[in-house]
Amino acid sequence: CGIVGIVGRADVAPHIVDALKRLEYRGYDSAGVATISDGALGRRRAEGKLVNLERRLADEPLDGTIGIGHTRWATHGVPNEANAHPHFSGDVAVVHNGIIENFAELRAALIADGFEFHSQTDTEVIAHLITRELKAGKDPVSAAHASLRVLRGAFALAIMFRGDEDLIIGARNGPPLAVGHGEGEMYLGSDAIALAPFTNAITYLEDGDWAVLRRSGVEIFDIEGSPVSRRRQQSLGTA
Ligand code: GLU
Repeated sequence: CGIVGIVGRADVAPHIVDALKRLEYRGYDSAGVATISDGALGRRRAEGKLVNLERRLADEPLDGTIGIGHTRWATHGVPNEANAHPHFSGDVAVVHNGIIENFAELRAALIADGFEFHSQTDTEVIAHLITRELKAGKDPVSAAHASLRVLRGAFALAIMFRGDEDLIIGARNGPPLAVGHGEGEMYLGSDAIALAPFTNAITYLEDGDWAVLRRSGVEIFDIEGSPVSRRRQQSLGTA
C-alpha cells in the first residue's frame, strides 16, 4: 500500500503511476489515480496489478498537472474498483493508507447529515468530513485541519480540492509519509524511494504532522495548527 501526490508542471498521471510502481514491494490489491484538469476532478481505478490501471489510463488518459495516486491493501471493504482509492466527495479527493478506527460512528453521523456513501471503505468518511467543513464555510486548508482532528487511528493521507489546482494536503499519523522538494513542483510519497525519480530532497513528516504543499513549497503544522520545522535532507535513493 502506498501514496503518491504531485503538484507539478506537466501532466502528472504517468509520473504518479511510475512512483506507485516503486511502492509495489509493499503489496496491494488495487490502485487508482485522480487529477484535476480544467476545473474538473477525474479518476481511473482498477482492481489488481498496476498494469490494469495503466491499461485504463491508456484507453482513457487523464490530463492534469496536479494529482494523487494510491495502491490499496484492503482493510474495510473487498478489493474492487468501487473501494479503490481515490475517494471523492463533492470537490474533495482523498487517498489513505491505514485504518480509521472511529469510522463507524463518523459514517453514521455523516449519513444522518445526508451524505451518500459509494464505497465500503473507512476512508470515504474523510472525504465527506472535509466536504461538510467546506459547506460550513471553511477554506480547504482549515476544512482539512478540522477533519484531521476528529480522526482516530492510523493514517497517511493525501487530499486535493477541485477549485484549487495548487494545493495538496498530506497528513501522517502512523504510516510513513515524505515530502519531496522539486523545482516549481512538490511531491508526496510513502517513502523516498517512490520520489527518487523526481527529487532527492526529502522532508519526512512526523506523527501528528500535516503538510500544505503548493508548487512554491511546503508548510508543515502540528495537530493544533502550529507551524513546525522539519529537517530537509538528501535521501540516498537512486532514480
Ligand atoms: N483502510 C483503507 C481501505 O481499506 C486503506 C487501506 C490501505 O492502507 O491501503 O481502503
